[in-house]
Amino acid sequence: MTARIRPDLESIPVYTPGRSNPGAVKLASNETTLGPLPSVAKAIAEAADLANRYPDNTAGELRAALAEFLDVEVANVAVGCGSVALCQELVQITCAAPTDEVLFAWRSFEAYPIVTQVGNARAVPVPLTDGYAHDLDAMAAAITADTKLIFVCNPNNPTGTTYGRTEIERFLDAVPEHVLIVLDEAYYEYLRLDDHPDGVAIRRNRPNVLVLRTFSKAYGLAGLRVGYAVGDPEVILALQRVHIPFSVNRLAQAAAIASLEARDELLDRTNKVIAERDRMREALLAAGYTVPPSQANFVWLPLGEHSAAYGEASAEADVLVRPYGTDGVRVTAGDPHENDLFLAFATAPEVTARFLG
Ligand SMILES: *Cc1c(COP(=O)(O)O)cnc(C)c1O
Repeated sequence: MTARIRPDLESIPVYTPGRSNPGAVKLASNETTLGPLPSVAKAIAEAADLANRYPDNTAGELRAALAEFLDVEVANVAVGCGSVALCQELVQITCAAPTDEVLFAWRSFEAYPIVTQVGNARAVPVPLTDGYAHDLDAMAAAITADTKLIFVCNPNNPTGTTYGRTEIERFLDAVPEHVLIVLDEAYYEYLRLDDHPDGVAIRRNRPNVLVLRTFSKAYGLAGLRVGYAVGDPEVILALQRVHIPFSVNRLAQAAAIASLEARDELLDRTNKVIAERDRMREALLAAGYTVPPSQANFVWLPLGEHSAAYGEASAEADVLVRPYGTDGVRVTAGDPHENDLFLAFATAPEVTARFLG
């Protein structure tokens, strides 16, 4: 007889890796195309020499470096095994009863409903606006006495839509102070809005707001798993209580510190990615696609029922993109030649005739 497992877990989708297409261009995971800088690779190699020793469970050096960089106290900073681990820990520190509610826009980051269910809480998805953005008024209206946690993904993955500081603050003002609001800023480094929505600045004087950022996207360390939270010291302390011990490993900590030191060079790269993203959007709009403006390193194609077939057809053309159910397809901005390969597929007359008709 097999052991008894929580039956409610059966409804959580098991991760299905994208079809393996050796040699195909991968525009499916919002990664950067360039490997670590030499200084970062060196820090990783040096850390590997000490692999027999446990890492610093408090990530003291990394948190101090982040605190200095962000002009906050060390007590305001927590790190996690990717910011996705912090998402799960945030549910753990806020939700205790199955009636406790986690509110988020939908479609948004696919981890939100999963970590909510793993945490035995109730997911409350609020549909996006017709413009593929968070419906902040509807989200405020969906708050109940059971709401414990709200995820706001800004820019939104997978649609790229983004709110400026004014609109974010208006929403925060509408949320009761006992509800924890998480501003998930995984794509912060790609933002170029005039009304700059810097969560770390926005959350000063707002103890119920926490900001999530990651080294996986613009900093190019997706394979090492390190993200961070900036929040009120009491919330940070709670995160430390539920943290899986040593889950931010020695290589990840060393690489993150070295990447912060090399940030000017790393963040320079975001300008090229943004230029490519805009070039892709223009070409797609010209071919007849609907493409909401994006402030991240990807574009969103709301292809509805066609999404899965579009993903298949793109893979046949050796470009892997990410279809999401019957909502749409997300395409990461890669290197120019990779994006050209995608655009050649996407703008071919037989493709536009089949999917945009
Ligand atoms: C990629 C992503 C993350 C987290 O990535 P990690 O690799 O776990 O740090 C978090 N939120 C959003 C919206 C993302 O797209």
